Amino acid sequence: MKQTEHIGYAKLLDSQDQSNRPPVSEYFGSKTFNKVVMKEKLPHTVFKKFNRCIEEGVKLDIETANVVAHAMKEWAMENGATHFGHWFQPMTGSTAEKHDSFIEFSGEHQVIERFSGEQLVQGEPDASSFPSGGIRATFEARGYTAWDMSSPAFLRSNGKGVTLTIPSAFISYTGDALDKKTPLLRSIRAVGKSTMRLLKLLGNESSNHAIVNLGPEQEYFLIDRRYYSRRQDLVLTDRTLFGAAPAKGQELDDQYFGSIKERIQSFMNDLDFELHNLGIPAKTRHNEVAPSQFEIAPIFEEANLAVDHNQLLIDTIRKVARRHHLTALVHEKPFSGVNGSGKHVNWSISTDDGINLLQPGHSPWENMQFLIFLVAIIKGVYDNSDILRSTVASIGNDHRLGANEAPPAIISIFLGDQLLDILESIERGEVHKTSDEDIIDMGLSSLPLLSKDDSDRNRTSPFAFTGNKFEFRAVGSSQSISFPTTVLNTIVAQAIDQIIDSIEKKNSGDLRRAIFEVLREEIGLNKAVLFSGDNYSKEWHEEAERRGLPNNKNTPMALRALDTDKARELFSKYEVLSPIELHSRYEIKLETYATKLDIEAKSFIDMAACQVLPAAYAYQKAVAKSIKATSEFVNDELLEPQKKMLEDLAGKIGCVQGGIAVLKDLVDQSEKIEDPLELAEFCCDRVKILMEQTREVVDDIETMVDNELWPVPKYWEMLFVN
Ligand code: ADP
Ligand code: MG
Repeated sequence: MKQTEHIGYAKLLDSQDQSNRPPVSEYFGSKTFNKVVMKEKLPHTVFKKFNRCIEEGVKLDIETANVVAHAMKEWAMENGATHFGHWFQPMTGSTAEKHDSFIEFSGEHQVIERFSGEQLVQGEPDASSFPSGGIRATFEARGYTAWDMSSPAFLRSNGKGVTLTIPSAFISYTGDALDKKTPLLRSIRAVGKSTMRLLKLLGNESSNHAIVNLGPEQEYFLIDRRYYSRRQDLVLTDRTLFGAAPAKGQELDDQYFGSIKERIQSFMNDLDFELHNLGIPAKTRHNEVAPSQFEIAPIFEEANLAVDHNQLLIDTIRKVARRHHLTALVHEKPFSGVNGSGKHVNWSISTDDGINLLQPGHSPWENMQFLIFLVAIIKGVYDNSDILRSTVASIGNDHRLGANEAPPAIISIFLGDQLLDILESIERGEVHKTSDEDIIDMGLSSLPLLSKDDSDRNRTSPFAFTGNKFEFRAVGSSQSISFPTTVLNTIVAQAIDQIIDSIEKKNSGDLRRAIFEVLREEIGLNKAVLFSGDNYSKEWHEEAERRGLPNNKNTPMALRALDTDKARELFSKYEVLSPIELHSRYEIKLETYATKLDIEAKSFIDMAACQVLPAAYAYQKAVAKSIKATSEFVNDELLEPQKKMLEDLAGKIGCVQGGIAVLKDLVDQSEKIEDPLELAEFCCDRVKILMEQTREVVDDIETMVDNELWPVPKYWEMLFVN
């Protein structure tokens, strides 16, 4: 930390020459009020108390909070901050914040800077401006934000201003979670508790608590800002609502394997710099498959922090892109016909003393522990695949899931052949004796040799074991990773508990025997969710249906899983979401879907009516004029193709006109639907379909009309000019 004090953050940021920057180790986390700074700035007893509160999950007393707040303010002001604000994650999926300046009157016309423990610990944004999905109607409008001490406060600069930003939970006065952080924290606690219960059963005496780890790999597009600002669809919906396919797509793979262009490299350097200052461990960056598509992956972190950091990372990508006159498109499908963007969420559980429970071990006993966790995860995913599927349901992701570029909407698990073999032999009862030798014979002792390639090759799987972690690959690029993680934690917590219950019931002195009996049973019950083949293939879709795996193809279908007794029981039992809290999420997701589709439809109507059709009319007129003018000189027969084209164009214009009229009517009709599910279904089955059909005609017109007349940037420009 010391180094930054003399380097000075502002100076660092202003240094345009990227090569002049000091080594990352000298400024990593310099914008965060992290443990290192705290240790330096806080009296020893206060620092110890603070740490104890985090470990035990208890509230900070007000005296201690006052001391922490004061130190935080001094540090923030030294680094240029004038304001502070609680930063939280409302149920919409983005983040929100409200800023206050540090000033307080100290006398007439005089102010001082003050920041109290009370202000640090609790804030009061106007809860009524955020969706509550019915909670507000049932209870009160007010809500408050509460400092999440486990995620360090940080400095956020926008333009020249700096704000001390305090990661917070957002809760109603009745204690209902109005955000995405609160349930996540509850689910981490739940899965931690079940994990420890299992470890104790297995005789572990060294671990005190379990930790959920997350490493999200984030994909995004970058396009030149000039193109972006000329497309209403991109500005309002983050995706292109029409656009004919360019002559070149991603078939040459030259983007993926090519070197990163200088302009992009320069953007990435600044991005990494900002992220590292914020303590976000950005590690890997590369081109992605589609032209102008990229990926960034940080080193994995504790889940709560990783979720905050992913939100911050998306914000920072957008901000730094603007500085480079680029626009970042963090949407699941900005361009039709070109790969969309997802987010592989790498997930694992470890202990405070460094055991990764998904790491195949070095001894048969360790491997047994690994196998129990593995089977618990398989069970959790199989029993609740519909709920897990619902967490990645969104209007954007509907374009990806099942579109043969991302995993399908059918949730299955890929384990790799080696691991699958082992589970199969356990199921066949070939591993049932309890001596170490048997386990060794089964190859369990060689689990550490599981090759990464074996597990990583199948990129079509939505949920894949990759060596020492699972990778949830169906998550959309724009979405918060909080809810998918919350659900994953909760379903695994439940499965672990169920497995322990069964083991305890069967255990009459020979624990190993009981364990293998339960594993055998559970593998048999849950193996339908295991699939190693091509998830894109038609055969799999048929096979999955035979196996009874749900295939919820769109958002309204997928969200139904949240409105079931199964879901209500699961989340209340683990105290992650009360039925009311769950219902609010269900409704908000439906409403968000319908609202976004409504915006898409209206943008589509506007662009089609006010940009596409006028261009088509102008071109029609020009061709008609040209035919008339040339007919004096050339043979009528030779003009036939042009006339034919005019007719064709007129037909297409008619189609678009008709499409717009019906679309308008559908939008009007949708406004009268009150039930959120009915509305979402109407938007999905009627509005979206018609928009897609009309789009096809618009794209045809684009290929006919004079380039000079075409009103918006085309795909080839946006994707290849940067
Ligand atoms: P890939 O082949 O998918 O790129 P990497 O090993 O590069 O795999 O890891 C991708 C992401 O997974 C990174 O963010 C990395 O930090 C994270 N990761 C690695 N190990 C774990 C783990 N045990 N738990 C959670 N995430 C992990
Ligand atoms: Mg990966």
